[in-house]
Amino acid sequence: MTRESLRIVIVGHVDHGKSTLIGRLFFDTGSLPADKLNEIQRISRDLGHSDVEFAFLMDHLQEERDQGITIDTAQTFFKTQKRDYVIIDAPGHRQFLKNMITGASQAETALLVIDAKEGVREQTTRHAYILSLLGLDQIICVINKMDQVRYSEERFNAVNMEICHFLETIAIEPSMVIPISALKGDNVAGQSNNMAWYTGPTVLDALDLCTRLEPEQKPCRFPVQDIYTIPSGLRIIAGRPEAGTVRAGQELLTLPHGIKTSVSRIEKYTEDTISLSTGESGGLILSDQVPVSRGDVLVDPEAPPPVSTNVKANVFWMSPEPLKTGERLTFRCTTQQSVCSVKEIVNRIDSSSLELLGTESESMNNTEVGELLIETENPVIVEKHADIPQMGQFVLERDQNVVAGGIIV
Ligand code: GDP
Repeated sequence: MTRESLRIVIVGHVDHGKSTLIGRLFFDTGSLPADKLNEIQRISRDLGHSDVEFAFLMDHLQEERDQGITIDTAQTFFKTQKRDYVIIDAPGHRQFLKNMITGASQAETALLVIDAKEGVREQTTRHAYILSLLGLDQIICVINKMDQVRYSEERFNAVNMEICHFLETIAIEPSMVIPISALKGDNVAGQSNNMAWYTGPTVLDALDLCTRLEPEQKPCRFPVQDIYTIPSGLRIIAGRPEAGTVRAGQELLTLPHGIKTSVSRIEKYTEDTISLSTGESGGLILSDQVPVSRGDVLVDPEAPPPVSTNVKANVFWMSPEPLKTGERLTFRCTTQQSVCSVKEIVNRIDSSSLELLGTESESMNNTEVGELLIETENPVIVEKHADIPQMGQFVLERDQNVVAGGIIV
């Protein structure tokens, strides 16, 4: 049996200890290759640090990434007895926020790291807000650097209240709030002797209690990536289900055309297979020659999504040059692409303070989140992010640069 895995993202204000926590998780679960550990111990010693500086591990991995040494750019793993964990998008990764908001990295659980001394800061709230936009409601808060506040229960309670109060305003209830020291290892893998007053789970215990998303349970959504005609004349529709499963023999509806067809065969790496589950790439051979092109979505005819040219969404703007209503942009969701324009900026919010900056605005600035009405030139197939995340997340491009990420509401 293959081991189950859970995708986690580690967020929080700069310097609050995200990298250190990742390093600690690797170290305490024995997931660190000996050469890497030696290297980090050596650097720490050379710099006169008495503790192993796990933050260097992430810098080291980042360097390897920059040099193209590590093949997989954004993913790293550690294991517990229960399952494997994939840390998507290590902090420090330049595209971190962008990847999160554009859906390049879909996490199932988030660890929100808060420095016990500093408390909630600008990026703490911004990251938490983005998690809430993404509908990611499995959030474990860790109050880090408890060693720097003499492991004070009082200080923990104060920061705990501060973060829970903020999360309440965005309708998030953290599954746990854990006092830790990532540097020293308190309450990460093992219970801390320094905080007898805390009897809750460690970070690893809390992670093992998290549940996984089950996209396979959803109705089938198969965005068409490409069409190949092989020498025998057979037409292969390449892609992967973003939700649900495609099975040989199954009926499908092609969208936006709305034509019924069925799957006569499925190929994966040129071998026949009976099904493709969510995220599994392959090629479909349909029973007839219905018109299909890249960007079409083949769906379960029993539960078809709407086809529309009007999209209402929460959009995170991430370009120094403001967005203007009426501006022509490119809308992309899965393999779909259409020219679009923003009809209305219904409201604008500061993504960190959550302050309402304006309603019915003409423009929107960097790092603001707005509720927008967007009109696409061609019909698009999108769904509420809460129902099917992959079909509810899109990007906007200006001159081929991603300038915004959005969530269908
Ligand atoms: P990031 O920017 O959130 O990834 O933060 P880092 O992991 O790079 O940590 C920033 C600084 O805080 C580094 O110098 C760490 O050694 C230090 N740090 C992280 N966690 C702890 C902790 O639990 N206790 C103490 N005393 N220092 C910590």
